[in-house]
Amino acid sequence: MNQYNMKDPTTQYPKPEFERQPQSPPGLAADMVPKPDHGERSYEGFGRLKGRRALITGGDSGIGRAIAIAFAREGADIAINYLSAEDEDAAEVNRILIEEGRNITLLPGDLSDEAFCLQLVEDATQALGGLDILVNVAGMQVYVEQISDFTTEQFDKTFRTNVYAMFWLCKAALPAMPPGSTIINTTSIQAYKPSPGLLDYASTKAAIAAFTHGLAKQVAEKGIRVNAVALGPVWTPLQPSGGQPQEKVQAFGAEVPMKRPGQPAELAPVYVLLASQESSFVTGEIYGVTGGGHLP
Ligand code: NAD
Ligand code: MG
Repeated sequence: MNQYNMKDPTTQYPKPEFERQPQSPPGLAADMVPKPDHGERSYEGFGRLKGRRALITGGDSGIGRAIAIAFAREGADIAINYLSAEDEDAAEVNRILIEEGRNITLLPGDLSDEAFCLQLVEDATQALGGLDILVNVAGMQVYVEQISDFTTEQFDKTFRTNVYAMFWLCKAALPAMPPGSTIINTTSIQAYKPSPGLLDYASTKAAIAAFTHGLAKQVAEKGIRVNAVALGPVWTPLQPSGGQPQEKVQAFGAEVPMKRPGQPAELAPVYVLLASQESSFVTGEIYGVTGGGHLP
């Protein structure tokens, strides 16, 4: 059973209604019900990223974990970043890849700190013997119903984590990246259709889309491509750990035509495509994976 077996996508994965399952941020995949599918038992690689060296932020859980598994099975050596509160999830990714005989480097730390971002790129480049793929997946999302309750502290932290970190990591990584390298950012349907309770988060995702378009134009002449993936609802710890109120977690994904949330395993193949040489003429694009919620 791999990602190529034909199935009905509407019944392929769990649908709402889900259990209430509050967690404190950043949340753990280990504590989710049902468990997300990161492709642990299904993703089959064919050497599409053989010899490539990738740094993936948010690689412990959710979409980042699915990307780490897929990239490793496609032959890449990888380094992942996450917060130390997520050691349990990172250890699980580490175990899976080590059992498969793959190289993985764990580099925990807080991306909202500029100095840490610079150090992270340096450490990843050293551990991997170079860097030719940067995947910015990490992000925070804290739901706040009313603008009157939004604190400057949260607004600032969301921008530092989602936007500034991407800027710092891209800036630090580009000088190390040879022609053929790829950067992939992670945005959201929220960039185009913001929820009223996600003012800061949605704004960061719009900024990521604009940054992706602009940076792609700037570095095309260096032979470096920059794209982003825009996700609809995906079953990850981001949502029950404060990204949505619990009643929205219970109905999560019901609003899209597939009537269910996506699973991280359904995102990884798009990141593989954008990272690999197969997508050599694709740059400055935002690739939607939304269960039918579609980009404008
Ligand atoms: P996730 O919780 O599994 O991943 C987010 C990761 O961000 C965490 O694992 C954590 O390691 C990292 N992170 C957060 N703050 C950090 C910090 N200060 N320093 C370092 N790392 C930090 O959830 P996910 O849904 O897989 O999220 C991945 C990306 O997908 C995010 O950018 C998110 O905005 C985006 N996204 C998710 C959804 C969804 O429905 N799950 C929808 C659209 C976009
Ligand atoms: Mg996590």
